[in-house]
Amino acid sequence: HVKERGRGHFRFYRPQMNVDLLTRMKLDHAMREALAEQRFRLAYQPQVDLRTGRVIGVEALLRWRDRELGEISPGQFIPIAEETGFIVALGDWVLREAIRQGEQWHLQGIALTMSVNVSAVQFQQTTFIASLAHMLAASRLPPGRLELELTESILIQNVDDTLVRLDALVALGVRLAIDDFGTGYSNLAYLKRFPLHRLKIDRSFVRDLPDDESDAAIATAVINLARALKLRVIAEGVENDTQRDFLLAAGCDEFQGFLCAPALKPADFLNLAERIGLADATPLPTSAPNL
Ligand code: C2E
Ligand code: MG
Ligand code: MG
Ligand code: MG
Repeated sequence: HVKERGRGHFRFYRPQMNVDLLTRMKLDHAMREALAEQRFRLAYQPQVDLRTGRVIGVEALLRWRDRELGEISPGQFIPIAEETGFIVALGDWVLREAIRQGEQWHLQGIALTMSVNVSAVQFQQTTFIASLAHMLAASRLPPGRLELELTESILIQNVDDTLVRLDALVALGVRLAIDDFGTGYSNLAYLKRFPLHRLKIDRSFVRDLPDDESDAAIATAVINLARALKLRVIAEGVENDTQRDFLLAAGCDEFQGFLCAPALKPADFLNLAERIGLADATPLPTSAPNL
């Protein structure tokens, strides 16, 4: 890494540094162009009720295929967008698009929770809540069908101000989840202060279940904590039956992961939902849920 010696003086120079900077600038430029040309897409990953095997919701995940660079993952471009502030415009598009798709499904009689990731930079914009309120007012999606996935980092910054903002969001009728729970800060006091609906157990605690004793203990503790606080709890990154069986036995409510499906195009999601059944839909699935 680059070491700093005094203010603004860099001790070491690595050629890699320029490449990184160039890549970042290139990505920043390409992202702005992609948004203007409507080349971002949302893909929808099913969230499944562990007990019934039915689909209860989706998480909207950004997808971007650049003409020259090919498919670029959110893990690569979101941090850059957060640094440059572009996430504000991008996050605004994500909310708008997720609400549009959620509304369309709702009007088709498909009952789902639409979960949307909200970055800390976006959440802290003074216009965030008013802008979301406008989008909801202009949409026929019931606000209760929209869930915002917040990270722990949002919740520990200026607690009093955050509480006011979360209350305002809940007053709009939307639901609030903590994403990647357990990877941020260990201060649990916010769990009782903030008006939350759901915890998402981070994939890093799910991956080695049930063999890794520490992960098993952490996952179980998070599930028990959620239940005691009357929050729903969903595990992310579930890839096999063993993980699912462990989570079900431990009392987890829901899961999301490749075991069911990756994030899908809307049409592919609908096909899948038809196949395995929706929690709130009346028709029973023709095949038994894979439980
Ligand atoms: P996240 O919100 O925790 O989303 C879950 C990530 O885990 C997604 O990666 C998803 O594709 C991946 N995943 C789900 N199930 C499995 C599984 O069984 N195995 C494995 N290996 N992976 C699984 P993705 O789509 O690459 O997104 C990465 C991160 O980028 C997200 O993590 C989120 O923090 C961020 N992100 C994605 N879309 C948005 C967005 O619209 N806005 C913001 N602010 N951040 C976003
Ligand atoms: Mg998420
Ligand atoms: Mg997550
Ligand atoms: Mg995660």
